[in-house]
Amino acid sequence: MHYSLKSFILILTALLYTGHSNALFYKQTKTTTISNAADTTWTIVGAGPAGIAVIGMLLDIGIDGKTITWIDPEFNVGRMGAHYYNVPGNALAENYIAFVNECHTFKNYSSPALDYLRNYYPYEACSLHIIIDALRDITAYLKTKVTCHADTINNLQFKENNWHISLKNNTFFTSHNVVLATGSHPRTFNYPCEYTIPLDDALDNTKLISHLQPEDTIALVGGSHSGTLVLKYLYESKVKRIINFYVDPITYAYDMGNNNTPEYNGLKGDVAQWAFDVLEAEHPASIFRIKNTDIGRASWIPICNKIIYAIGYERNAIPLIDINKNDLFYDDTTGVIGVAPCLFGIGFAFPEKIIDQWGKTQHTVGIIDFLQYAQRIVPQWTATKKTLPINLDAFEKLFAINLIQQ
Ligand SMILES: Cc1cc2nc3c(=O)[nH]c(=O)nc-3n(C[C@H](O)[C@H](O)[C@H](O)COP(=O)(O)OP(=O)(O)OC[C@H]3O[C@@H](n4cnc5c(N)ncnc54)[C@H](O)[C@@H]3O)c2cc1C
Repeated sequence: MHYSLKSFILILTALLYTGHSNALFYKQTKTTTISNAADTTWTIVGAGPAGIAVIGMLLDIGIDGKTITWIDPEFNVGRMGAHYYNVPGNALAENYIAFVNECHTFKNYSSPALDYLRNYYPYEACSLHIIIDALRDITAYLKTKVTCHADTINNLQFKENNWHISLKNNTFFTSHNVVLATGSHPRTFNYPCEYTIPLDDALDNTKLISHLQPEDTIALVGGSHSGTLVLKYLYESKVKRIINFYVDPITYAYDMGNNNTPEYNGLKGDVAQWAFDVLEAEHPASIFRIKNTDIGRASWIPICNKIIYAIGYERNAIPLIDINKNDLFYDDTTGVIGVAPCLFGIGFAFPEKIIDQWGKTQHTVGIIDFLQYAQRIVPQWTATKKTLPINLDAFEKLFAINLIQQ
């Protein structure tokens, strides 16, 4: 009896000390130090351009920064900041200027990098480092407005009408709403070639060169914007041969004056000009464009000693415990994920579907697209009511989600 009373007082003290209703929810082991962070209303996972856009919009519409928690291992403008600092942008500078000016929260802030971007000539393409530097400054500014954890979410579970979140370093908290702005990574295949040059390296000319020798015959798989940029770099680096496996013919994002029909996801900027002037007009002798078929690969891959896959990106993994992945439904017009209450997605991993002006269905992945999408859908997200399914147990089990960083 005496022992029980003592235990009860200890437990009560722990609850009062942490101030969290879930203090007893997680068991502490002898070897792990577990800490509870403040429970929160909004949790944004990912600090790439999409996560930045969502934080900006939440603040713009008056959500108190104290109720927002932001999680990212680096806070370094996501994949762009990590890999594409030396990559030429594929959009006019006006798009990046709009990103930092169309959100009131960003507009109210200035720094040398932001001022440089704002004063950039809007009608020419600019290198991605100009927007990355500006977004790094915006990130630092936003970090002063919201609660941040430089960490990775490794478990996300819907329980007791709340999202229960655990971070890699064993911090736990709950959140009413969760936004996944978790990005994507380059896809690859397993074609039989010994040496693979990672796409992230191939897109940066200074890194690509370190993988190349003059006698190389390189298989380059893919012919969209990234693939054509790499093709240009390989051609300029004067490797012996480039075998470019493609599926669709080259398309351009704007009218090139040859009666082509522009496409939202066609080639843009310098890459488009090079493809038009050199690749399609001159047919360089070192470049072999081969249709990507079983016969094409069987004939040509054996002569290649290195391979690069530029075949697009896939969503960073969301391994689901006991869940058929097909059950995870994502509405690409509202950002709502699955049947879970208050779980949303945006950005490269969860892009918006549009019908472009030429009638084609596309998913938009430019950073200005993320901001404009966020402007439309974040106010809807804040108005979302949490509705509970009838069978709560089954529902909670369904949405035990483990997120693993690629
Ligand atoms: C070569 C190339 C050139 C491009 N050029 C342009 C351009 O010129 N103009 C343009 O507008 N767009 C461009 N884009 C598109 C743009 O870069 C991407 O769409 C953008 O980087 C994606 O942003 P994001 O925020 O969705 O994802 P990311 O930038 O990938 O950010 C996701 C973040 O989430 C974090 N994260 C993931 N999982 C977890 C987890 N479990 N816990 C915590 N954090 C997590 C990651 O660490 C990362 O920091 C380009 C893309 C490529 C590939």
